[in-house]
Parts: sequence; structure tokens; C-alpha cells
Amino acid sequence: MSIENYRMVRQKIDEACLRSGRNKDDVTLIAVSKTKPVSMIEELLPEGVINFGENKPQELKEKYEQLPKNLRWHMIGHLQRNKVKYVIERSCMIHSVDSIRLAQAIDEEAGKHDLIMPVLVEVNIAQEDTKFGIKADETFDFIKEISACDNIKVNGLMTIAPFVENPEENRIHFRNLYKLFIDIKDRNVDNVNMCSLSMGMTNDYEVAVEEGATLVRVGTGIFGERTYNNQVQIK
Ligand SMILES: *Cc1c(COP(=O)(O)O)cnc(C)c1O
Repeated sequence: MSIENYRMVRQKIDEACLRSGRNKDDVTLIAVSKTKPVSMIEELLPEGVINFGENKPQELKEKYEQLPKNLRWHMIGHLQRNKVKYVIERSCMIHSVDSIRLAQAIDEEAGKHDLIMPVLVEVNIAQEDTKFGIKADETFDFIKEISACDNIKVNGLMTIAPFVENPEENRIHFRNLYKLFIDIKDRNVDNVNMCSLSMGMTNDYEVAVEEGATLVRVGTGIFGERTYNNQVQIK
């Protein structure tokens, strides 16, 4: 069942690319497998799916250990500094850098493993009190500051748009994030390669693609609703 959902989501992405004159190869679909069992991930592997997203470091680690090593794990959730060690050698990208201290912790841990960690800066584009992320007007300075870290590489921006009934309501936020992305890209900061824009989830990924997303993170639309038994949800 997940395979059919995955194909349908991918097709809608391709159609959104066509509508907006984009190349479909420029948009990567990340299957957000958080809370879902390894068996559901395995169902997608014959389809050639390799990009998966998780928001809890320990869960990412456990799934990484159990599955083929060619998979690409995206750390998409809020990350605490003491958990960086779980994801550093296991994820291909950390989407959720939202503080200097976290960037430094990633830099330090990546240094220990002699690798350069690709990261995205999380932007609170709709200025919601309940969301993590850097303010839009502080993002350039933030990126300049963390670009001094030798063991991280800023690859772009990420946002979690507001929860809305009508995805069209988020178009303005995606458009604003795209503008910010291009603006920072045009300023050519050393050691920064603005190539990835992570935006769009189950409810709004088609609009996000029309507005320039290169990475979309879809969970429910592929794996179905999540149930959080007695897990405590933090922000
Ligand atoms: C859970 C999650 C998603 C996927 O959400 P769906 O609405 O299920 O598609 C995307 N991004 C982040 C950061 C998430 O935590």
C-alpha cells in the first residue's frame, strides 16, 4: 500500500514540476518514516526508494542499523546537542540547524569522525511562536557565522510551514523562503553552497514544489496516519 502511495505522491510532484516549468529530477522526495516500523520501509526498497526522514536521533540510529547501508537518512526534527552523536555518521543531511551552539556541536562531532556534515538552516518563515527556526531577517548573518565551521557545510534552508486547511495559504511562506534562499545564494558566502530548499509536507508539498522546493518531506501521504501511543511529543 505504501508503494502505491509513494508512486502517487511522486506523480503529483512530477505534475507540479510540469505546471511550474521545473525539471522533475530537481525535486527529491523524502519518505518520512518516523514512528513507522522497519517493515514498512522495506516495502519501499524494491521501488528504489533511498531517501528517508526521521525526527528522533535514536530512532534514526536504530533503523539505520537494521536496514541496507545505501539508504540516505535525513535528520529532519529538532536536534539536541547531546544527541548529535547518534546521527553524525548515519545521516546524509541535518535539516534542522537552528542555533549557533547546535552548529558548533555538529562541527565538533563531525570533526571527530573526520567528515564534513551537510546541513540546512531551519527558518521560521511564518514567524510562529510555537516553531523552532531562525528569523528570516537574521538568517544571512547566522549562515555567515556558521560558515566558519570547517566540518559543516551549509547546503540551503528548511522550513516547517504552518498547519493550514488550505495549502494555498502557505504559498506566500514558500515563496518568501525561496526569495531568501536566492538572496543568500547570490551573496556567495565562502564555504556555503545554497543548493537545497527543504519545504512541503503531506498537506502542501505540491504548492511547495511549484514555489521551488528541491526536497519535500512526506510522511502521512506515504505511510498513513501516525499513532503516538504513549510517546511524549515535544513541540
Ligand atoms: C513529521 C514531519 C514531516 C512529515 O509530515 P506529514 O504531514 O506526515 O507529511 C515533515 N517534516 C518534518 C520536520 C516532520 O517532523
